[in-house]
Amino acid sequence: MQNPMMMTDRVIMVTGGGQGIGRQLAEQLLSLEAKVALVDIDAGMLAEARDALGASRVSTYCGDVSDPEFVNATVDSIVAEQGDIHGLINNAGIVRAAMASEMAIEQWHQVIGVNLTGAFICLQAVGRHLISKAKEGDPNPGSVVNISSDAGRRGTIGQINYGAAKSGVLGLTMCSAREWGRYNINVNSVCYGMVETAMTATIRQEKFRDKYLSQIPLGRFSTTGDVAPATCFLLSDAASYITGQHLSIDGGFYISS
Ligand code: NAD
Repeated sequence: MQNPMMMTDRVIMVTGGGQGIGRQLAEQLLSLEAKVALVDIDAGMLAEARDALGASRVSTYCGDVSDPEFVNATVDSIVAEQGDIHGLINNAGIVRAAMASEMAIEQWHQVIGVNLTGAFICLQAVGRHLISKAKEGDPNPGSVVNISSDAGRRGTIGQINYGAAKSGVLGLTMCSAREWGRYNINVNSVCYGMVETAMTATIRQEKFRDKYLSQIPLGRFSTTGDVAPATCFLLSDAASYITGQHLSIDGGFYISS
């Protein structure tokens, strides 16, 4: 029996793939024999990722996920160069922390722009491609995983822009899953808790460390290696009957007080 996690020669677009979780997702996808199209705003990190992962199965596209012209052109380029797209991981994200009463409107717009509007733009662009494949008779056009956060399910302190964007991502997931189910396109969300990347460097420092750790039943922060396999599972045939769901990959943080 074939392993349903394998994605041999499927082309998966990963946004924010230059570093952190996105880069680990790319590595995981390559181990499942997929091809990866990495999108990131940082050209240097993209080049580094491509060198490290090997250029033969990795293509790179530099630009901003909140720019619809760039995203649409990127999807067209991936299809032209690779022949197809089978999946999207909507992973690019930023934080601009401030307490709700102090937050500048620019901080609000920046985070909503990348984390929510950017996720929508990528979802729509790849979704249109997957729908056109379905209409041409492809019974299994592909799937999408949107990266949310426990901040979008239980709130967070000092990041109202981020929490609102990540709640919005859950809405993107449920709406598109309902609209696109008839094309056999699966859309799901994953919610991470505290992953050891540049994004959480401040929060993991001594001042906050024990407070957060005490709320994680598994008693440790996660590595990027902890979250990548379960995320890729949702893109694979092993998850073919799962859609519109939000999976916390967080050591139990979501269910803890
Ligand atoms: P990271 O900061 O290490 O990496 C984010 C990547 O996104 C970077 O490579 C960055 O250049 C890229 N990026 C930022 N803005 C972009 C834009 N406008 N267009 C294209 N690329 C852009 O972050 P990470 O920790 O790897 O987070 C990845 C995802 O996981 C994010 O959506 C984040 O919100 C989510 N998440 C992370 C954690 C965590 O604990 N690290 C927890 C919950 C959710």
